[in-house]
Amino acid sequence: MRALYKKETLQDPEKEGQTYTNHTLLRETEFCCDKFKEYCKKFTGWSYDLGKFSIVDQITYERHSVSTIDFCPFCGEKIEYEDKDSPKKKRKQKKF
Ligand SMILES: [Zn+2]
Repeated sequence: MRALYKKETLQDPEKEGQTYTNHTLLRETEFCCDKFKEYCKKFTGWSYDLGKFSIVDQITYERHSVSTIDFCPFCGEKIEYEDKDSPKKKRKQKKF
């Protein structure tokens, strides 16, 4: 499947003069299977900081840690992460 995101550098509202990077998952993202699509609707599977899908790894009282994933946890298909504005890669439009 292909995960398309848009990378933006934004002003940090809490720290003056500092920026942070935000990755927004785009609607053009093609999910490999319905299970994963449903999962992402129910849980926040997308990490805005990292620009990758992530699953909760461990939950402790203080915090929970997440792991980024490169393969779909349901069907095992590889997840290709693609920056929409990246000039290097030419996107091939697949029509089904
Ligand atoms: Zn899948």
